[in-house]
Amino acid sequence: MHTVSRRDFLKLSGAVAGGLLLPGGRALAQEIPVFPLHKRIGETTTICTFCGVGCGQIVGASDGIVVNIEGDPDHPINQGNLCPKGNALHQLATVGQAANPRRLNQVKYRAPGSDRWEEKSWEWAINEMAKRIKATRDADWIGEDEEGHTVNRTEAIAALGTVFANSQEAYLLTKLVRSLGVVYNENESRICVTSAVKAGGESVGRGPMTNHWIDLRNSDCIMSIGCNVAETFPVSFRWIERAKEGGAKLISVDPRFTRTSAVADIPVQLRTGTDIAFIGGMINYVLENELYQDEYVREYTNASFLINADFGFEDGLFTGYDTETGVYDKSTWQYQTDEEGIPKMDESLQDPNCVLQLLKDHFSRYDPDTVCGITGTRKEVFLEVCETFAATGARDRAGAIICSSGAAEHSLGTQNVRSYYILQLLLGNIGVAGGGINGIAGASNGLGCTLQGRLFDVLTGNVPMPASGDANLEAYLERVTAPAATMENVVSPWRSRPNHAVSMLKAWYGDAATETTEFGWGYLPKLGGNYSFVPLFEAMNAGTIRGLLSWGMNPASSGPNSGIVREALQKLDWLVVTDLGETETAAIWKAPGVDSAQNRTEIFLLPAAASLEKEGSLMSSARWMQWRYQAANPPGEAKSDLWIITQLMLKLKELYLQEDGPNAEAITNLTWDYGDPPDVHAVAQEMNGYDLTTGELLGGPGALKGDGTTSCGNWLWCGSYTEQGNMMARRDPVDPSGIGLFSNWAWCFPVNRRIMYNRASVDLEGNPWNPDEPVISWDSASEAWVGDVPDGGSPPGTAYPFVMKPHGRGCLFGMGRPDGPFPEHYEPWESPVVNSLSSVQSSPALKSWEEAPGSREEYPIMATTYRLVEHMHTGTMTRNLPWLVEAQPDMFFELSEELAAEKGIANGAKVIIQSARGEIEAIAVVTKRLRPFAVNGQVVHQIALPWHWGYVGLVTGDSTNLLTARVVDTNTMIPAYREFLVDVRRAE
Ligand code: SF4
Repeated sequence: MHTVSRRDFLKLSGAVAGGLLLPGGRALAQEIPVFPLHKRIGETTTICTFCGVGCGQIVGASDGIVVNIEGDPDHPINQGNLCPKGNALHQLATVGQAANPRRLNQVKYRAPGSDRWEEKSWEWAINEMAKRIKATRDADWIGEDEEGHTVNRTEAIAALGTVFANSQEAYLLTKLVRSLGVVYNENESRICVTSAVKAGGESVGRGPMTNHWIDLRNSDCIMSIGCNVAETFPVSFRWIERAKEGGAKLISVDPRFTRTSAVADIPVQLRTGTDIAFIGGMINYVLENELYQDEYVREYTNASFLINADFGFEDGLFTGYDTETGVYDKSTWQYQTDEEGIPKMDESLQDPNCVLQLLKDHFSRYDPDTVCGITGTRKEVFLEVCETFAATGARDRAGAIICSSGAAEHSLGTQNVRSYYILQLLLGNIGVAGGGINGIAGASNGLGCTLQGRLFDVLTGNVPMPASGDANLEAYLERVTAPAATMENVVSPWRSRPNHAVSMLKAWYGDAATETTEFGWGYLPKLGGNYSFVPLFEAMNAGTIRGLLSWGMNPASSGPNSGIVREALQKLDWLVVTDLGETETAAIWKAPGVDSAQNRTEIFLLPAAASLEKEGSLMSSARWMQWRYQAANPPGEAKSDLWIITQLMLKLKELYLQEDGPNAEAITNLTWDYGDPPDVHAVAQEMNGYDLTTGELLGGPGALKGDGTTSCGNWLWCGSYTEQGNMMARRDPVDPSGIGLFSNWAWCFPVNRRIMYNRASVDLEGNPWNPDEPVISWDSASEAWVGDVPDGGSPPGTAYPFVMKPHGRGCLFGMGRPDGPFPEHYEPWESPVVNSLSSVQSSPALKSWEEAPGSREEYPIMATTYRLVEHMHTGTMTRNLPWLVEAQPDMFFELSEELAAEKGIANGAKVIIQSARGEIEAIAVVTKRLRPFAVNGQVVHQIALPWHWGYVGLVTGDSTNLLTARVVDTNTMIPAYREFLVDVRRAE
């Protein structure tokens, strides 16, 4: 029997109310017979799989087939709205009435030298892959390093991915590869936003968005820099529009005039790679005009701390630089301390060695003329930006910065974002409603996957990996645990690292994790170097890495200097690619210029289920962990990553039980009991953790212990799945906070705190700086905080707000980075101009794997890259969706009218773009969105290229990354994708 669903009812009532009124307005509702609708559409909620906004969607499916997807009107972020990608999501599953023909529905195998795929069964593939993994691992096992330390690792296998899988899947992938001893373990966030995250850690303690998308509506001024927010995070822009409707100003800072610029109150263009000069000028303006939030700066930052009197800066270099090694000795970048190790302070902020005075001195060189001479920005526009944004330094006003990979993918990516944090700390904009630094993670689950230990140097929850020199568990824990605070009123969660690490080991090794076995710590691989993305492909090219597990990642198009990456991929013995369809990486033997007969790599291409076809959680850029449900069946033989990883792991366990091998117990003792098929709730519960004495799920990370009586796969997820239920699946649309916290919708890390560092939103008595938009406040009657979850529950005046920093203060001066305690402008590695600020041309600490930069004479044009709303990353999903392909079919690039005239290039012409690494062809879009920059009297042209194309897909085109360089920001080894030199010429 057909039952009228909510949606059927809406359709019927809509028809009556809106479509069937007679002239004169008399409704015929009573006279219309209600015919049953002959469809059975089940509805399920999901979360969009593309960007980090985390929009909710309703999926209508009939008999396991998707028939409709629309925005979820109850979802507090998108309120029913979707962008073009979100609207096209159903095409991942169905095109017209049929399954998307570009989806994989069968396991495929390509034999060495073959020119075709063969279809295989899962059983065959799992068996063969497990055999390859075991053979490679065992043959190239490193039990001890050269110093005789037990290291239990293999450098012959690498694992890549992902930022689109569910968090539970990423967690299992880490568990699998670390049990094998894999150290080359990376995902997309390394090459996308790690520098922004590192800057957050250095400045305030943590890297993700401090606030959240809805909170943008509370802002008085929003500056989008290094992120074209209207295009990259489209639906979030509705909250900026709300803010604008309330009188807020929007500033868009970008090398191009972007979609964000088009609706900005102040659109600003600057030459790529000059953010520090621009923001440095703003910092100087704020300091010179004393527009900073004095009490906030005095109480909540390290402005008053005294720095070693020998610290200094001269002609582009801080004290301690070794010109031979290119490394800083940071001994002078330290606080002056008393005999108990407590930093000395000058409350008057007048001592020339105090941080505020050093900051003033450092940025005094960034006057408006100097800034505009470097950036190419018009001076009147720069000053308008300074005046407008600096106004948010008032106690009751808030300014937000939005940034993402456009800020991060530079040779100075970390220091770019450091400069944003310094500005925001000065203006008292961190921790308050409508403030903060936001954006950052671009992909739908970039944050949720990465925090499962998907980077080489960390375990789950960013607990550092063991390294060669760690003699035992005790020594390791001592190294990774923060020293006890020397100052009063400072609490650091990093003191709890032993609880986090041991609880993770208990989750992984269960009964085998005892005090006698050091909780299984010995099983873990120990790092012996830097195994990040660029070195990974160097090792592959050198033949060290012989097997690669590539999970939803496409380095053949996303790697810098992709030509080198493609060469490296062809040297593998075997390659496993798990994805929705064929990718450039899987089809490396079909790459332009490759003779498939010569390519000896065995390739396994595994058909994966899409987000709609499986259940689990993902974390938006704003740290919200949201649950999505299975709405449809995967096509053919496609399976969830959870299932694939489980099958592979169980087969490996079987092999090691039968045949043994080095450090076999790391595999055979690994807990893996999630049922068949694996139950995602069991994995989520393992991640949350248990009290092993009662068997109950833990309520939060405060309950974790380091004595083996608690287990917890990821301490940051502790509290996400408790005895109260799956907190990530909560859908309470009520917002009692009145400022858009929606604290009972889903769950967020840390401990469901929606605005991080919120103790900085109140004065020392616990009164909000802005009583109209309180994040928290102290209720003296109940002697409790009200509002958001505070950063520590102790009464006001008894704890500092930046709890993750050793002294509880936000760091204007940071001593943890290898390239300087303050940001300093240097030119990109490839630049058409000479650095006018000092005689040091480019960052003294950058690292390059290229032979030499392209010369200014041969490659005189600056180039940068960007993302389009219609496509995602290398286009592996979006270039296979007909709607999006129709909207953005061809690889193109943008150039100014002036450059086009100089080069004789017409709009729509085919053009060759060449760098010192390679050349590509693209269609010219001649536009006013780009303009030449006047840089200290020199004309600098700049072009801009999207990077979504490759040689596989419904539409194909050249990959922009054939042009980019293996030059990285030393802080995190993120490639400087956004700054390189090219020349252009007509193709015909
Ligand atoms: Fe929302 Fe981003 Fe999906 Fe667009 S791509 S619908 S903005 S989550």
